[in-house]
Amino acid sequence: MEKHIDEKLHTLRHSCSHIMAQAVQQLYPKAKLAIGPAIENGFYYDFDIEGVTLSDEDLKEIEKVMKKLIAQNLTFEKYVIPDVEKQIAEFKQQGEIYKAELLEEHKNDNPTLYLTKDKDGKVLFNDLCSGPHIESTKEIKAFKLMSVAGAYWRGNEKNKMLQRIYATAFLTKEELDNYIKQIEEAKRRDHRKLGAQLDLFSVRDEIGGGLVLWHPNLYTVREEIENYWRSEHRKRGYVIVQTPQLAKTKLWELSGHIDHYKENMFFIQKEEDSEEQYIVKPMNCPFHILIYQSQRHSYRDLPLRMAELGTVYRREKSGALSGLTRVQGFTQDDAHIFCTPEQLVDEINSIIDFVSDTMKIFNMEFEVELSTRPESFVGDLKNWDLAEAGLKEAMDKRGMKYEINEGDGAFYGPKIDFKVKDAIGRMWQCATIQLDFNLPERFEIKYQDKDGVLKTPVMLHRVIFGSMERFHGILIEHYAGAFPAWLAPHQVALVPIADRHNDYMEKIYNMLRSHGIRVIFEEKSESMNYKIRDYLQNKKVPYVLVAGDKEIESNKVAIRKRGVGQIGEMTIDGFIEKLLNEINSKGKEEIN
Ligand SMILES: [Zn+2]
Ligand SMILES: [Zn+2]
Repeated sequence: MEKHIDEKLHTLRHSCSHIMAQAVQQLYPKAKLAIGPAIENGFYYDFDIEGVTLSDEDLKEIEKVMKKLIAQNLTFEKYVIPDVEKQIAEFKQQGEIYKAELLEEHKNDNPTLYLTKDKDGKVLFNDLCSGPHIESTKEIKAFKLMSVAGAYWRGNEKNKMLQRIYATAFLTKEELDNYIKQIEEAKRRDHRKLGAQLDLFSVRDEIGGGLVLWHPNLYTVREEIENYWRSEHRKRGYVIVQTPQLAKTKLWELSGHIDHYKENMFFIQKEEDSEEQYIVKPMNCPFHILIYQSQRHSYRDLPLRMAELGTVYRREKSGALSGLTRVQGFTQDDAHIFCTPEQLVDEINSIIDFVSDTMKIFNMEFEVELSTRPESFVGDLKNWDLAEAGLKEAMDKRGMKYEINEGDGAFYGPKIDFKVKDAIGRMWQCATIQLDFNLPERFEIKYQDKDGVLKTPVMLHRVIFGSMERFHGILIEHYAGAFPAWLAPHQVALVPIADRHNDYMEKIYNMLRSHGIRVIFEEKSESMNYKIRDYLQNKKVPYVLVAGDKEIESNKVAIRKRGVGQIGEMTIDGFIEKLLNEINSKGKEEIN
């Protein structure tokens, strides 16, 4: 049933792209048409319009023309091209070089045109396409042009840059409205925008793309998250390590990264000395293996769970970089688990527990995908089967639902991906558990089993947050910048009613600080109401305490809560106790 709806929507959207092309050529007769497929959430069409750079205003005009075309109940009619060579010549003569190129490639596929006809059967437009399409434009009830962006012909940067209009269409007006609301909500939550507004982070040209400066505000959030991370790892039997930022080429040869990962690595060469080549680490794994190797291990030592907040660097194309979510330098909350085959299922289970307990704190649900053995792989088939069965068993045991991506695993082992759902329902890839049959073999790491025989341990790579950068980007959007009190850069702001109440506020400021509460008290000349609004709404501070003569007399403060407003008065001690409860329970017990 669902698939049926998807296909219907897909056909509707794709048909709509032809109407868009028709409208564009009506407005810009010289526009050359490229391609116009349906995509997730909508459709696009690529145009080559000499001398015109489409603006948002132009999109509105195109939309108007499309509406007029749609209102004419135009029909789509399939037309098998009788003489392909002639048609190619015709396209060329019309200047439709892209269509000519496409038709040339498909000349043996019984290529078709689709004719758009009005009610008298007159052909108003034709486009090279194999369909399918809707029967008539009266089926288009809700569409919208969204944006315009540059796109190379066939995605190849050696080709000409075309203009791509992104648009969407839905079966009903209501669905379209919901979608647009969702887009606006996503824009409101954009972590790049909030990052500037809340002074959270920045990225500078002088440093390089995707290399993030964590400002004090966001680093405060990270510090809390790292504190949680460290204490949870200790509780769950991990050891924590720290490894270098660089290693000689030799290590990366041994690990195989030189062969498989070269274009993502940053090389450091000492001047006039190519012998001494260092590489900035793109991964922490080889270092952890060397720590494992530094001692002999018996089965009694296993599992060995080794964690590191390890900062790695991976070269990316500058066009792919964005905010905190697409970066070149990032800190993985990395861990490697070395265990016996018998311990595998339990280890996977405890990682799933860890992910699940952690995401609960952020009120995030998650979905799970299992990627299995690809066609080319390393290691024993038997081990793969055991591992995949183990991963499935671990998830089945807890009644977890998961999707299987058959053949989608890495060449060195199957993996589990966790996708968390944020406050507005978007899915983000975070935690992964990756089995590895390759590195233990390459580094020849061993443990001595019960029978005295030296065996190769099973190795798991795992992250919970993924990378600190990305996870904080997700958190900013998830909370729309309004971090819960335990994470908020400033938990409390103080606002005296008049200057003569400053001393009282100063006293409260010191009391809160001595309890480790992050409090802000600025002597500024703005009005009280302005300050309250600024703290609660713009700076998104969870609590504002207000005091004047009345409060000083009763040794209390009046409390304003972000998103709620006034919630009454409390003694200072009472407020501190309740706020600490809220902070220490990570928001489970909120002040109301
Ligand atoms: Zn089509
Ligand atoms: Zn690893």
